[in-house]
Amino acid sequence: MAEIKRVCVYCASSAKIDQKYFDATERLGKQLVENQVEVVYGGGAVGLMGKLADTVLEHDGEVIGIMPQFMRDIELHHKKVARFHFVGDMHERKKRFLDGVDGLITLAGGCGTLEEVLEAMTLKRLGLFTKPIVILNTDGFYDPLQTMLERCIDENFMHQEHRKMWTFVQEPEEVLNA
Ligand code: AMP
Repeated sequence: MAEIKRVCVYCASSAKIDQKYFDATERLGKQLVENQVEVVYGGGAVGLMGKLADTVLEHDGEVIGIMPQFMRDIELHHKKVARFHFVGDMHERKKRFLDGVDGLITLAGGCGTLEEVLEAMTLKRLGLFTKPIVILNTDGFYDPLQTMLERCIDENFMHQEHRKMWTFVQEPEEVLNA
């Protein structure tokens, strides 16, 4: 395995989701700390973002939040996360997510998470981002995305080679190897 020192994790802001997604996030957070991997994330205090940061902090790991200033102004930032970068807007935030990371991990989420992972795939397709993109497919949550991407390839909107840009895994413990 290439040495993974820092990853960015895209994940949900919603807290109204099934416990299984929180459990998967906690397991991933523990894996990252055990392997001394720093976590970059959106800086949120609730949903899977909050769970991820809480888990990493509880286990004495390193977590860095990146959040646009307007979200800080309305107190959305996680108050226990000491390492924060507040940026001008959502575009700058997405750019900063990719700076200096050794890989991207996507957990379950809504439109924000989907947008983030699809932008990363687009950048990778253009050779502007080169690191692994791993999608944690908890309980088949991302089966429809996998089907959509396969259809893009089958109908020649993308090349067979592009399938190598991402890896879907089923369990948090598989993420780091992927
Ligand atoms: P979603 O997957 O739609 O929940 O989106 C996650 C993304 O939404 C984050 O990366 C942020 O861009 C944004 N976001 C939405 N609500 C919040 C929140 N309460 N705190 C932090 N970020 C949020």
